[in-house]
Formats: sequence, C-alpha cells, structure tokens
Amino acid sequence: MAKIAFIGLGNMGGPMAANLVKGQHQVMAFDLTAAAVDAAVEKGARKAASAAEAVKGAEIVVTMLPAGKHVRGVYETDVLPNVAKGTLLIDCSTIDVDSARHVGELAAKAGLEMVDAPVSGGVGGATAGTLTFMVGGTDEAVAKARPILEKMGKNIVHTGAPGSGQAAKICNNMILGITMIGVAEGFLLGKRLGLDVQKLFDIVSTSSGSCWAVNNYLPLPGPVPASPANRDYQAGFSADNMLKDLKLSQQAAQTSGASTPMGAEAAQLFNLFVNAGNGAKDFSGIVKMLEGK
Ligand code: NAD
Repeated sequence: MAKIAFIGLGNMGGPMAANLVKGQHQVMAFDLTAAAVDAAVEKGARKAASAAEAVKGAEIVVTMLPAGKHVRGVYETDVLPNVAKGTLLIDCSTIDVDSARHVGELAAKAGLEMVDAPVSGGVGGATAGTLTFMVGGTDEAVAKARPILEKMGKNIVHTGAPGSGQAAKICNNMILGITMIGVAEGFLLGKRLGLDVQKLFDIVSTSSGSCWAVNNYLPLPGPVPASPANRDYQAGFSADNMLKDLKLSQQAAQTSGASTPMGAEAAQLFNLFVNAGNGAKDFSGIVKMLEGK
C-alpha cells in the first residue's frame, strides 16, 4: 500500500483515483471543484484541503489536469516545494511536450523522479481500469511507476525519454480527431441514403471502416449504449480538450517538419465547433455541426 496524492479529479481523474483506492492504496484527493473531491471521498479517498496538503508525506503524486499551464502551475507552486525526497511524480494529463520537459527538468533539479504518462481509453477505460498508458521517463522511474499504473490501466508502454509519452499521445489523438470526423461523415451520409443506423453500425463495426470512434464511441445515438451521443453529448472527452490536442499535434508537426493535412483540417473543424459555444460538450458532438444543427 502506497500513500498517493491525486490532483485533478475530473472526468478521468475521478475514476482513476477510485481504482487506486480499489487497489488498496491510500489516496489523498484534491481538485479545485469541491464536488469532485466529495465524489472521490465517497469512493474511499481522503480529502485534502489543498494540493500542497495532498502531496505532503506522499510517496507518489499523480496529476490529471487539463493542460500544460495547469500542470506547470501545480508543480511549481504546490508539488515541488512540498514533496519529500524520494517521491515519484506521475503526470497523466495530456500536455505539450515543452511543458512536460520543463516540469521534468524542475523535478530532476530537485532530485525527484518523474514520468509523463498520458492515457488513452476515455472515461470508460478509466472506470474499468483498462487505460493505455504512454510513459516517458528513465528505466528506473518507469519501473517504479508501473505497479501503480497497472491499477488504472491494462497496457503500459515505455515510450522512451521524458516527454516521449506526450509525443505518442498527440499522435494518437490527432488520429482520433480525424477518425471521429470521418465516422460522423460516413454515418450522416448513410442516413441521407436511407440506411438504418443500427444496420450500418453492424456492418462498419465488423468491416474495414471499423475503429474506436465507431465501435466504442459512435457519434450517433443507439448502437453503442456508453457513447455520449446517448446523453446529449455530455462530455466524456470535451471538445475543448480535443481542440487543445489537435493544436498540440499541429505545433509538433510544424516544428518536426511532418506533413499532416488531415490533422490541420480536423483542427479547423474543431475550432469552428468550439467557437460556436460547444467547448464543454463531448467532442463527438461535432456530428451535429456537420449535420447543420
Ligand atoms: P476535466 O476537465 O474533466 O478534469 C480536469 C480537472 O482538473 C477538473 O476537475 C478541474 O477542476 C481540475 N483542476 C484544474 N486546475 C486545477 C488545479 N490547479 N488544482 C487542482 N485541480 C485542478 O478533464 P478530463 O477529461 O478529466 O481530462 C484531464 C486530462 O486528461 C486532459 O489533459 C485531457 O486531455 C486528458 N484525457 C482526457 C480523456 C477523456 O476522455 N476525458 C481521455 C484521455 C486523456
């Protein structure tokens, strides 16, 4: 049993912290939103009054925050000044590689081990404990993080040096942004052609068009009960966060010289969707915009 501070208990962090409690760890939970802390306490975590209080005496700190600026802020103000020597730091947020490297360097200067460990698998994967973790860090740090990550996920891949987990994550999410738009277009075309959504799903989900956006997260209501389309696109993964990740992928494409025209198009379309006031909605709700609604 380890003493774990968990900071950021939103759509993903909430169920991830609950799985650490299930795994017999002692979890000190903090979020800026009181309701998120209360929900974690209901699942067996202990309430911390601040991030600084959560990390005091912790052997491991896990952060699951929206973006790079939140991670920099929490690490600089709360985590690094207050953790004990020997504490392992695990950031599971999806953030830009620069911020990941920056906090990694600050941790190294303070003599602390840190891994960037962003995830894939959505709220369903976070709840079921079946997430994929993409982990950047030294062999030693990743070996220490592995048993903790295994309580929250099924596939733990050591991607390489610090920051490389974030690099893998933005590639994955660029693919997801593009495929979600493709799936939405394909199913809207099917509807126009008079096809039944369930029948089209039965075909595509077992055919060459099959992908995660079809099989696990269909943007139309009906065939996939867990998909946000059945809950008026209440966010599992917000359009704000998808746009953030697509922008990160485009920055990375520019600096590395990679050619990503479909990624650029997806970023433009999600920008339109978010600017129309849909940032807090689930990203799969982009189907509504494509439908002209
Ligand atoms: P979310 O917005 O639901 O949760 C983020 C939480 O962080 C919120 O509860 C917020 O109050 C809290 N927070 C923000 N600043 C804070 C601070 N300074 N101190 C303490 N708490 C603070 O977001 P999410 O969907 O849980 O995503 C978290 C991260 O995981 C993002 O980087 C996202 O891109 C990534 N991600 C999300 C999904 C998904 O399906 N939702 C999947 C994979 C990765």
